[in-house]
Amino acid sequence: VHQIERLFINALLPDGRAASLGVSNGRIVEIFAQGADLPEATERVDLDGQLLLPGFVEGHIHLDTSFYGDAWKPHIPNTAGFDVRERVKFQMQNIATAAPMDVRARNQLDLCIAHGTTQMRSHVMIDNSVKLSHLETIMAVREDYRDRIDIQLVAFPQSGILTSPGTDALLDEAIAMGCDLIGGLDPAMLDRDIEKHLDVIFGIAEKRGVGVDIHLHDGGTLGVYEIEQIAARTQALGMGGRVAVSHAYCLGQVDSDLLQRTADKIASAGVAIMTVAPANGPFPPVAPLRAAGVTVFSGSDNIRDSWWPYGDGDMLRRANTIGHRSGFFEDWQLVEAFDVVTQAGAKALQLVSYGLGIGDKADFVALRAQHVPEAVIGVPSGRSVYKNGRLVAQDGQMVEGI
Ligand SMILES: [Zn+2]
Repeated sequence: VHQIERLFINALLPDGRAASLGVSNGRIVEIFAQGADLPEATERVDLDGQLLLPGFVEGHIHLDTSFYGDAWKPHIPNTAGFDVRERVKFQMQNIATAAPMDVRARNQLDLCIAHGTTQMRSHVMIDNSVKLSHLETIMAVREDYRDRIDIQLVAFPQSGILTSPGTDALLDEAIAMGCDLIGGLDPAMLDRDIEKHLDVIFGIAEKRGVGVDIHLHDGGTLGVYEIEQIAARTQALGMGGRVAVSHAYCLGQVDSDLLQRTADKIASAGVAIMTVAPANGPFPPVAPLRAAGVTVFSGSDNIRDSWWPYGDGDMLRRANTIGHRSGFFEDWQLVEAFDVVTQAGAKALQLVSYGLGIGDKADFVALRAQHVPEAVIGVPSGRSVYKNGRLVAQDGQMVEGI
């Protein structure tokens, strides 16, 4: 009989069962029903009836460009409407006077982990001015945090690919260094050449065997056309499940017929859609996309950076925002909003062993709520966050020494 390392007793599972969980070597090894005989364990943790949730999935963030924990940086508005290049210019001015990048990245990681995020995908800026310097810094921070959070990195061409000469080679080098995915950004509006932009991205994806996650702000039928091209390439390369389009505001701007046709295409191609459910404009409609079989996931995106000052790194709050912005009132709808920041996020990030089943990684969050709908509405504080079965954060504070 093997000894269980940690026994978490008196947990309330999302399906309503009261249970105890045995954890060894960072994994859930046994689940005991209420009243069952419990084995010996090296350590016993009494959850006292708290709701136990899988660790939250932060599917889209920028660890290199946030100023969270740094001196306040007032937002600088665009001079003539939203303009990616002008915002990148403001970003470079802000970064020049900011605290060191690794300090800012750590601040942001602590914020996210303390709220319950155990899995993350961060984009990291690469262009011909900063080259691979951001990536080197963020990779070192990732290594330092490996026992507290799992982080995927996306090589993100912030200044374009065709219009920032040399970026294609840097993106390829980034993947060789250990970046997990290849990114992209507005093939039409930024690089003015959809085919050539996508040729570079999917070329590297095919050559290096990595997934794709493309920022797409391009609106209306232009954006939808680009998504169709991305879906066609995903299908042609057999990359279903490994491609995501982030923001995709266009899906919230076109009529319902075109939305439905596009949703069917991306569902069958296996392209996931990331939305933060922004409050200042249209966004991909979560319920119709999910109904069509599209994987919709979410993230904080920008937190106190040069793009906007909002964001708190709390993916449970994000589920609340998604529900609020989507008109979700019924319990089953609130459960869907929660799914976006947990299971759907895990699917989009292709995480293995994610969840609260036997054999899954013991990455979970304990908090006071009767069930998932109440957690989404109440966004309770006082959370305990466990990574690989170990307490990494409690009551909003990181546990020292992990
Ligand atoms: Zn982003």
